[in-house]
Amino acid sequence: MKKIFLVLIVAVACSKENTDMEKPAIQISSPVNGVEYLVGCDTCALPVRATISDNDELNACKIEAHSAAGHGSHVSLMKALTASWLYDTIIDAKGNKKIELSLSISLKEVQDTGEFHFLIYATDKSGNESLAERDIFFRLSAQ
Ligand SMILES: [Zn+2]
Repeated sequence: MKKIFLVLIVAVACSKENTDMEKPAIQISSPVNGVEYLVGCDTCALPVRATISDNDELNACKIEAHSAAGHGSHVSLMKALTASWLYDTIIDAKGNKKIELSLSISLKEVQDTGEFHFLIYATDKSGNESLAERDIFFRLSAQ
């Protein structure tokens, strides 16, 4: 009987530590999967609209776009990236439970075409990380 009592106390003590295991939530409303964007013109741009939230507190998020050439998923991302156009920016989200992203990525300098990956990574204060991805396509403007 005494043994059972001890086990119960340990279980209660552990659950009180309250470690945040919940990953941030990422909702991307733009771009959507499969959409084609023109590149290489002055007004060529990729519109980004997303909401990132966490049950506790966000830390940072990263927006990235790169050519899908040579890889299908991001398990092997590190060895997969080619020397083509790459967009990469980190946004500080400390102190926020929720942020709204609204930006326009210029595609004026892009000369690469085909399938691209658009990704948003988010981390929270406790180090939980989540990832949302869209597959998009680039086509050279006739300009
Ligand atoms: Zn990729």
